[in-house]
Amino acid sequence: MTQTAPSTSTSAQAANVDAGEIAKFNQIAAQWWDLNGDFKPLHLLNPVRLSFISDQVQGLFGKTCIDIGCGGGILAESMAHAGAQVTGIDMAADALDIARLHALETGACVNYQQQTAEAAAQQWPAQFDVVTCMEMLEHVPDPAAIIQACADLAKPGATLIFSTLNKTAKSFLFGIVGAEYVLRLVPKGTHDFQKFIRPSTLMRMIENAGLVVTDATGLHYNPIQQSFRIGAGLDVNYFVVAQKPGTVKSATNEPSNIVTVPVAAVTNE
Ligand code: SAH
Repeated sequence: MTQTAPSTSTSAQAANVDAGEIAKFNQIAAQWWDLNGDFKPLHLLNPVRLSFISDQVQGLFGKTCIDIGCGGGILAESMAHAGAQVTGIDMAADALDIARLHALETGACVNYQQQTAEAAAQQWPAQFDVVTCMEMLEHVPDPAAIIQACADLAKPGATLIFSTLNKTAKSFLFGIVGAEYVLRLVPKGTHDFQKFIRPSTLMRMIENAGLVVTDATGLHYNPIQQSFRIGAGLDVNYFVVAQKPGTVKSATNEPSNIVTVPVAAVTNE
């Protein structure tokens, strides 16, 4: 894939960016790679989600991946180290500066662009084997439009993986009170409960974008061990995996084998 300059957002695309959120992420950009800083939870959970993603796509080596809302590049870089050809987009310029510097230090090859998902979808339609959008949907005004853009970026047969926070009493308690005030894992004001997304809502958005939900699982934090694990229970942080219908373009041109998970079977609603 050729690397091109970032395209200018139209006002419609810019409307799906919360300037306050971007300013917040720019302000703490220097912390992205501080393992004990504001992004400590993302560092703790990254190995777990990386192996989850890798399993979902039968290995990342040689795959074209785009990470939407990549921030300082914690996931994007780790996918590049696993042999994927990675593009990372974000609207926080300072986070991208840190991401580029860090990639220089570690020798990771990632194409970082300051770009909205919607603009990226116009620039690179149907070009990616893997689309990841992690812990980002709860920071945008219109998550459904981001999901549509992710669908447009995906090749037929591609895998898309979303993660966000559920809208439950437990997610309020763990995701905001626990993480921001008790354990002080992330800065106060990181999350707005109103923007948390129920799995049923997320899955509806995914299906409305023409994708097929294939898996959903929870992400659980153990404060004693300071570690995350993946397992049943979507009530706080969770992943939803989807596939774009169609045939994966591969040497053998085998049809993709999509297994549909009935939405009702996996939601917490
Ligand atoms: N996905 C990363 C970072 C999550 S933090 C990870 O899980 O490690 C959320 C990121 O989304 C921030 O870097 C923020 O700047 C970015 N973001 C928020 N709104 C955005 C938008 N409309 N377009 C692109 N990036 C956005």
